[in-house]
Amino acid sequence: MNIQVLGAHNCESQNTRLISLLIDDTLAIDAGSLTSSLSLAAQQKLKAILLTHQHYDHIRDIPAIAMNFALHGNGTTVNIYSIPPVYDVLSTHLLNGKLYPKFLEQPQGNPTIKFTIVEPYQTEQIEGYDILPVPVNHTDPTVGFQITSPGGKIVFYTGDTGPGLTECWGHVSPQLLICEVTAPDSYEEFAKKKGHLTPSLLKQELTIFQKLKGYLPPVVVVHMNPRLEKEIEAEIAAVAKALNNSINLGYEGMQLNL
Ligand SMILES: [Zn+2]
Ligand SMILES: [Zn+2]
Repeated sequence: MNIQVLGAHNCESQNTRLISLLIDDTLAIDAGSLTSSLSLAAQQKLKAILLTHQHYDHIRDIPAIAMNFALHGNGTTVNIYSIPPVYDVLSTHLLNGKLYPKFLEQPQGNPTIKFTIVEPYQTEQIEGYDILPVPVNHTDPTVGFQITSPGGKIVFYTGDTGPGLTECWGHVSPQLLICEVTAPDSYEEFAKKKGHLTPSLLKQELTIFQKLKGYLPPVVVVHMNPRLEKEIEAEIAAVAKALNNSINLGYEGMQLNL
């Protein structure tokens, strides 16, 4: 399993992009930087896009990718898998016929976007991968995704989440954990209120994981605030040392192989 980090941040700039992961060139998770990172041809290789939640930094490129498929896809569909609130936001706020065409409904009979609702804790087979959506703890409904490849490799990506992952950990057994850490420890109150993690909060969650599961997978951290990344990096290094575990910051263009 090859995982490319297309976007690793929560703010976009010339050299930071919004959250997107790409697995084996065909499966995307979150759409913060799908069109800005991928050629038109690479976009059309996507077999499925999994969306963790409705926030703008995770869904932003859906209208743009739908336009690419509508103009160049020869009738092929953009296959999106997510929870009902994400469908609602896309249909009422983005693809509503005012901001952009109603790609969830048009063309009639074969809409450009085929949206499939996923159920938490129900494994869905998508293109040979087992996809397990697991609720996490954010300000709006959010699911992380555990993805098991046809060869049995397993990664779990949390999406945006605050502390309180004990229940979530009970449902997943990843060989690689991709987890959000948005801000440094000095922002702990903010993080708790907004449903995000700091390095210290991550440490607590990983300690629970280890107790519960008897191991810790390597961890890659994403969704950093670029202005605070130096502080986050130093604090993450201390957590990695304390837990004696590999924890690295993700970056645009990072390639992970399982
Ligand atoms: Zn969010
Ligand atoms: Zn976010």
